[in-house]
Amino acid sequence: MFWTGELIARTAPVRRRVAPAPWDSPLLGKATAAYLGLAIGDAMGATVEFLTPNEIRHQHGEHRDITGGGWLRLKAGQVTDDTTMSLALGESILAARGVDAQAAAEAFDAWMRAKPVDIGNTVRRNLIQFRKTGKPEAVASEHDAGNGAAMRVLPVALACLGQDRTATLAASRAQAHVTHHNLHSDAACDALILMLHELLHGHEVQDLRQHADRLVEQFPLFAFDKKRRDNPSGYVVETMQAVLQAFFDTSCFEDCLIDVVNRGGDADTTGAIAGMLAGARYGLDAIPKRWLRALDPAIRQACEQQAADLLRLSQEKSSLAFPG
Ligand code: MN
Ligand code: MN
Repeated sequence: MFWTGELIARTAPVRRRVAPAPWDSPLLGKATAAYLGLAIGDAMGATVEFLTPNEIRHQHGEHRDITGGGWLRLKAGQVTDDTTMSLALGESILAARGVDAQAAAEAFDAWMRAKPVDIGNTVRRNLIQFRKTGKPEAVASEHDAGNGAAMRVLPVALACLGQDRTATLAASRAQAHVTHHNLHSDAACDALILMLHELLHGHEVQDLRQHADRLVEQFPLFAFDKKRRDNPSGYVVETMQAVLQAFFDTSCFEDCLIDVVNRGGDADTTGAIAGMLAGARYGLDAIPKRWLRALDPAIRQACEQQAADLLRLSQEKSSLAFPG
């Protein structure tokens, strides 16, 4: 279990902090926008996944709408593994009342059995390994540096809001290592969760820039300031470069998503990650109505519901973890 604070709380007298209910605050709006941003970026990017920026220009001009199609031949508004794995993880967190590796692995396994529209190679390989060994942690591998763990960090970020850094990063590892046990993937997941926390707390963009800078300090490979990253692959370093460039170089939700998906490459995943950050940054009102309308209604509803449920869990957890 990763809620170290809870153990302290069980032995100490609990003096409940009076925190504002999340639904009374802008927090719920930002959390909901982050989840919808993830799904919208996924749905929008899937259309142009694996195309180059040139091919996108030829086929779509500038890709600005949720139109479906792409190599997966999606219906307009349909999402892919980025969103559905996040939702599966979120369900496991709610059921286990915390981020639990075993529960996450079982949820991903059930998700794979249900024949998702797409699935990454590393995810498939390590989930098959989980079926064999029952161990919810993949063997560490320098090759498993895909973006498959980073794309689904949002439910962990929401559930761990208010937790201390140690508990948060332990939860980050627990979910990530089910399929991706890799230093670069870990660093990206941590940076994303800490950035999401800054945004959800309403901090300025300079405050979260430090997490991106720290990522580059730790692993200079992630440097995103110099050359424009077009055509990002599924390698988490390239994914993060495209996402961070688009995120820091634009100043509204719409521009951020259009920027990142028109870079092509692993566009559903760059879209999903940029979408969660931009949603948490700009809030619900900034999401273009045409994108909200286009999103699969069942997915929209599931994202909204989970954002609220995970926030509520985080509030219950933090009032336990930090009495007084
Ligand atoms: Mn995908
Ligand atoms: Mn992808």
